[in-house]
Amino acid sequence: MTDLSLASAVASYAPGVYPVNELFETIQGEGIYTGQPSIFLRLQGCPVGCPWCDTQHTWALEQSDAAPYGEVIAKTEPSPRFVVLNAAQILAKFHERGFTAKHVVITGGEPCMYDLNPLAEVLEAAGYQLQIETSGTFPIQTSAKTWVTVSPKLDMPGGLHVLPEAMARANEIKHPIAMEKHIEALDALLARCPVAEHTVIALQPISQRPRATELAIKTCIERNWRLSVQMHKYLAIE
Ligand code: SF4
Repeated sequence: MTDLSLASAVASYAPGVYPVNELFETIQGEGIYTGQPSIFLRLQGCPVGCPWCDTQHTWALEQSDAAPYGEVIAKTEPSPRFVVLNAAQILAKFHERGFTAKHVVITGGEPCMYDLNPLAEVLEAAGYQLQIETSGTFPIQTSAKTWVTVSPKLDMPGGLHVLPEAMARANEIKHPIAMEKHIEALDALLARCPVAEHTVIALQPISQRPRATELAIKTCIERNWRLSVQMHKYLAIE
């Protein structure tokens, strides 16, 4: 699927209507909300093209993959099948499924391909707090209360650039690292795209490798940054 056809597939959805690849409740395993019971809403579609992406099944947005809700929720393997739901239907599914978490993580794919304001309006009115996990390559359209986690994707095959306005809006920068060059790349990005004074910066060792973890710990202590360790991978939960 080309970027152009992905963009037109995304644009074909009315505001407040979203292609949902997954909907489940678990514990947030990354970043500042680590340990927080959370509802994960995974949206379909992403043109960024990270080579290590572990959700490549969310990249394309083909109408032929649209499926009934029951079929999408019953998936046991990663699949590009998605169900189209509006904000009110998403909230109704939370209730139907008996979810107890009040924290909602909107991920992807790249959720910022969509205007998330209508979803935020419905969910916040029902008492939920939103968090978005984004690559920072799209304008962020959501409520002022949404916690925005930017995991900046630099020089990826999709050719998209991290936007200064996405960095400026971020509440948290969560940066995967394995080597010094990844920290240098983050420094260069922060010089080009400053973040707000209150923005939390977290380093996340890639694949729990010992060298990456040691480098992340050392750098976090030197810089007074946070460490994000992908707790869900240690615990082997979703
Ligand atoms: S931005 Fe996220 S979903 Fe998109 S390719 Fe990169 S890791 Fe995968």
